[in-house]
Amino acid sequence: MEILETLRDEIVGFFSINGLVEIIRSGDYHSLRTWSGIQTVLSPLIPFIVIIEILLAFAHKNFNRAEYKIPFFIYIFNRIIGKFISFGVIAFCIGLLSPYALLPVSLTWYWFIYGYIVWEFAHFIYHFLAHKVRLFWCLHSSHHAPEQMNLSVTYAHFFLEGPYADFIRTSICILAGVPPVMLFAIMFIDGTWGGFIHVGENFMKNARFGFLGKFILTPSHHRVHHARNPLYMDTNFCNLLNIWDRVFKTYQPEQNDITIQYGITRSINAGNFFDVYFGEFYYLAKDVARAPGIKNKFLYLIMPPGWSHTGNHMLAKDIRRQYMNTHAGKSLMDSPPGGDQRKSA
Ligand SMILES: [Zn+2]
Ligand SMILES: [Zn+2]
Repeated sequence: MEILETLRDEIVGFFSINGLVEIIRSGDYHSLRTWSGIQTVLSPLIPFIVIIEILLAFAHKNFNRAEYKIPFFIYIFNRIIGKFISFGVIAFCIGLLSPYALLPVSLTWYWFIYGYIVWEFAHFIYHFLAHKVRLFWCLHSSHHAPEQMNLSVTYAHFFLEGPYADFIRTSICILAGVPPVMLFAIMFIDGTWGGFIHVGENFMKNARFGFLGKFILTPSHHRVHHARNPLYMDTNFCNLLNIWDRVFKTYQPEQNDITIQYGITRSINAGNFFDVYFGEFYYLAKDVARAPGIKNKFLYLIMPPGWSHTGNHMLAKDIRRQYMNTHAGKSLMDSPPGGDQRKSA
């Protein structure tokens, strides 16, 4: 019976419906007018869409168990340890850095916009470094390993990635003066949208969102981010607003004539938990062990994936530039050839 109770608690926890059940049970719906009440209602959204997505895959007769298996195992693993470390890191950064806040930010709508833009910048920094520093790539690559896109990919993260991301994002926001309560509200919006942008093509085939896609980072942009096609590699690092990708020239819309190939560039067994979770650590350790001298060993940790002490690099930015040079003349940054993609959105 105890096993059944644990299972029930886990299912309720996955769907984040504790708060909702509590509200319905008490019959007191006043809390729905508060921010925490709204969070309580919205939290189950992503888990429920995951289930709808799976049902749709069944309906389309293209459900592939392997696609969901690895994110599911990773979810279970992270559920146990990742969350606790993340909360600890956030609390530590707030406690340590709050006295050094540079601006006196108050809880008004215009400061909220400021707070969100700062958060998005901090997210860009974390995410960019996760792709450009090999050690951080080891933490982030589990998220890029799946070779299909669906909402379960939201849950596929190495357990230390959350704490690493929260350390950078919380530190930057607190130093920029964002008050903790505003930070938590932003984190909730970011987390919900960050889950939704992984929606699969079964659920939403065209996810460009028309005109909105000019400002908002859409599922289409994030599909591009998860692609290993040369043009798409290491682009679209933002989460909700795509401003910083435009500022730092990493913005790349989906092209109608380039079908997205999901996954990472090394050969990987995407159906193997250990390869997905620890594979990059294994190859990094191998490169460090083989590198001559302490300096080269250290450089492997901090240089981008594809860097080699022999000078024979295979960097994503070079592969992308090469592709763009050989396809020069085509408008790769704006509309796809043969028409305006927004017309079909
Ligand atoms: Zn990424
Ligand atoms: Zn993602």
